[in-house]
Amino acid sequence: MSLRVAIIGGGLGGLATAVRMASRGHTVTLCEAGPTFGGKMNRWQTVGYTFDTGPSLITMPDVFRETFEAAGERIEDHLELVRLDPVAEYVWPDGTRFEHSTNLPHWLDVIRSIEPRDVDGFLRFMELGARLFELSSETFLRRGMDQPPDWRTFKALRHVPLRHAWGNYDKAVRSFFHSPYLRQMFNRYPTYVGSSPYRSPATLLVIPYLEQAFGGWFVKGGLYRIVESLVQIARTKGVEMLADAPVERIGQENGRVKSVHIADGRNVSADVVVMNGDASLLPKLLGSGIGELEPEARSMSGFLTLAAMRDDMPDLHHHTVCFSADYEREFKQIFDDNQFPDDPTVYINAPSRSDRSVVPDGGETLFIMANTPARSGPWDEAMTSTAWERVLGRVARSGLPDLRDGAVALDHWTPQRIGNRYRMPGGAIYGKHSHGWKNAFLRPANRQRKRGLYLVGGSSHPGGGTPTVLLSAKITTNLIEKHESA
Ligand SMILES: Cc1cc2nc3c(=O)[nH]c(=O)nc-3n(C[C@H](O)[C@H](O)[C@H](O)COP(=O)(O)OP(=O)(O)OC[C@H]3O[C@@H](n4cnc5c(N)ncnc54)[C@H](O)[C@@H]3O)c2cc1C
Repeated sequence: MSLRVAIIGGGLGGLATAVRMASRGHTVTLCEAGPTFGGKMNRWQTVGYTFDTGPSLITMPDVFRETFEAAGERIEDHLELVRLDPVAEYVWPDGTRFEHSTNLPHWLDVIRSIEPRDVDGFLRFMELGARLFELSSETFLRRGMDQPPDWRTFKALRHVPLRHAWGNYDKAVRSFFHSPYLRQMFNRYPTYVGSSPYRSPATLLVIPYLEQAFGGWFVKGGLYRIVESLVQIARTKGVEMLADAPVERIGQENGRVKSVHIADGRNVSADVVVMNGDASLLPKLLGSGIGELEPEARSMSGFLTLAAMRDDMPDLHHHTVCFSADYEREFKQIFDDNQFPDDPTVYINAPSRSDRSVVPDGGETLFIMANTPARSGPWDEAMTSTAWERVLGRVARSGLPDLRDGAVALDHWTPQRIGNRYRMPGGAIYGKHSHGWKNAFLRPANRQRKRGLYLVGGSSHPGGGTPTVLLSAKITTNLIEKHESA
């Protein structure tokens, strides 16, 4: 039976769902509030420089491959995926620096040079990550759940004999590593889901395992090429793609969804409605509440600067992380004091170091980001200049080139701008934070109680980050097929 499917939001999750549903012969209309598709996977082009304004690193490339295959396409015919080695250079305030490689023999040599005892710790750390990955694939990541994971699933997970897996993330890292540098490096991974290592469950150590096992990748021409390819496939499959089409209300009848209403007065009739925007905004669209993710539940936002640099910077890696002097204090300032850290850890992504197609004749494209609280209040110019000074200060104190010199264009993205542009409360990039194992696992279900209503994307099951969002699209598509097509 062919269904009429209306998708609210053209982020990665909405696009992947549109492609999957249209490939199965359903009639799909996708309504995106913004002027372009891709949501947080966005692009900025200026004076010959091309920037990704969202994701800069992907892992689990097979999940991307699967999405194209679901449409009968080969990813190689659309994209050039490049595996990065080293993945990143890590830099400490005391001058210590090393490269993280996913080439195992090389990386073990690096660990040995830092702290010989940690070679064994790292191997045990990876073994635990691998077992957690296997378990979460079976119970969580790829499972098409009608409801959030039930208590039986948790019981099964909680009773697996994995020492360290159910405690606190930071404590688990400490138990595997002696070196303060390796501890801090591995403590960074919960930030991939907008969370603090000091409050997250140890189960998140599946993230460093995924990066080590499946590599860190970028896409030639920019990650936005993924969006362009999916948009092109969606159009070829007949998806009606509406930009500048904010949905204001979901129409309902007899306990079922029946349409979506766009702000300009257009209505789209639908058998199934899929919400790709932030899950907390759903009650408002259903007319059953105001809805907005409460501040204490939010994952982190980012203070992001895109800098078009005039000159080449050959000493810079594709990814560089300049750590703050006190990592624990940084997360305390973000989550307890609700303020931008006075000494932020700074992440610099310079894709032009690996891909000269994103710069004019020379120079670099820099994406410079620090974590911030996802606050709802305004973020004024004074806050921007203070944050930028702190970022510049950290970079300079880490011994990197002074970023004040040679920028031909700068563009700052504050939490407020991120929140407004992508309709995310407070600019919380990953929806809810993952503090405590319930938060990490209990995200809004892909199939909602209201008949015909589904969720997809980073704020719903199984969570944020590009591969997980694509898995969410697969789960949601399978659920729709199972429950609506009969
Ligand atoms: C700065 C930054 C860096 C990141 N880095 C990485 C990274 O390196 N690796 C990684 O894997 N992930 C990264 N991420 C996270 C990743 O971008 C997201 O997890 C993913 O893109 C989210 O996709 P989504 O489909 O869930 O939602 P979104 O991208 O949020 O898309 C939702 C869309 O819904 C639209 N919408 C909402 N409400 C309505 C409405 N009522 N009507 C119509 N449209 C509506 C919004 O406008 C938006 O376009 C990063 C994100 C940011 C912002």
